[in-house]
Amino acid sequence: MSVFWNSRIQKLSPYIPGEQPMDGQLIKLNTNENPYPPSPKVIEAIQNAAGERLRLYPDPECTTFREAAAARFGVKPQQIFAGNGSDEILAFAFGAFFESGAKAAPILFPDISYSFYPVYAGLWDIPYRTIALTKDFSININDYKIPFGGVIFPNPNAPTGVALPLDDILSLAEYLEKQGKVLVVDEAYIAFGAQSAVPYIEKYSNLLTVHTFSKSASLAGLRCGFAIGNEKLIEGLCRVRDSFNSYTVDLLALTGAAAAVSDTAYYDEINRRVVATRERAAQTLSGLGFTVLPSSANFLFIKPPRISGAEFFAALRQRGILARHFNKERIADFVRVSIGTDADMEKVLRACREIVNHGQ
Ligand code: PMP
Repeated sequence: MSVFWNSRIQKLSPYIPGEQPMDGQLIKLNTNENPYPPSPKVIEAIQNAAGERLRLYPDPECTTFREAAAARFGVKPQQIFAGNGSDEILAFAFGAFFESGAKAAPILFPDISYSFYPVYAGLWDIPYRTIALTKDFSININDYKIPFGGVIFPNPNAPTGVALPLDDILSLAEYLEKQGKVLVVDEAYIAFGAQSAVPYIEKYSNLLTVHTFSKSASLAGLRCGFAIGNEKLIEGLCRVRDSFNSYTVDLLALTGAAAAVSDTAYYDEINRRVVATRERAAQTLSGLGFTVLPSSANFLFIKPPRISGAEFFAALRQRGILARHFNKERIADFVRVSIGTDADMEKVLRACREIVNHGQ
């Protein structure tokens, strides 16, 4: 606390990012990074761009990247927005599409979801209400069909990994469009199994999908994300960006991202491997007595038999495995484990067997 902080900043509870240990001793499965390297074409493109051109500002319109992303998704460049990681785009979306102030209608998101959403709401002073996930940790779309200020959730959800059927998303988009409200679908983990809503951004003018290069494109260190939606939604995001910082995505990131979005063959292959590893690990863990939520993401949300989530997290760490534990109502017994290579997951499963069979 400081007397120099304004009252809004004093009230914030900022997001706490997962630990980024620097010593390389731990198997790092706590922030859902991809275990495989980025496409060689991405590295080559960045190396070629790292030259004299850095003297100049990057293109504030991110044209080359937007054209590459538009070609990849079959949309227009005007329907693409690029940002400094998808977190930044989410922050801009809160500022652009949701009303602030005590009199505003609250926005809705699930009680168990990406923990940055309440932080953005606090930063912009946007009232919100959380809607409880069902007993099996899924989203019941009918709970969101009430006259409120807008809706945001990830699909698949995080940290559960549970996906929502596309039909449910479209029926909510239709309901909210009639209310003049925006539906933001955070598709950070969409490449690992859920159905994307991107083909419907023409049909629903209030539907914004948000994407990242940090998970499926192995580029968490690059800081680039993008959104796809109606031109007017994209213009809304540009209005926030250009009232804040016109150059949020630097030249090297834009160059790498354009190469990444174009190399579907490489990324389809590494992400197919991640999914296959996830399915094998899920089966083994179920066999060991773990509760394993059905995951469409690059992580598993698992509850060990007999011991608490905190004890399980600590026992994994003792064995050199860094996972993520959320000390939060309803999910404190669970631990989230990102999917690593087959060799990583062998070590995880060996540790799990040991922990379950011999105590911690
Ligand atoms: N959305 C969800 C659901 C996430 O888990 C993350 C990663 N923490 C992000 C968005 C942000 O990803 P990035 O800013 O790296 O693009």
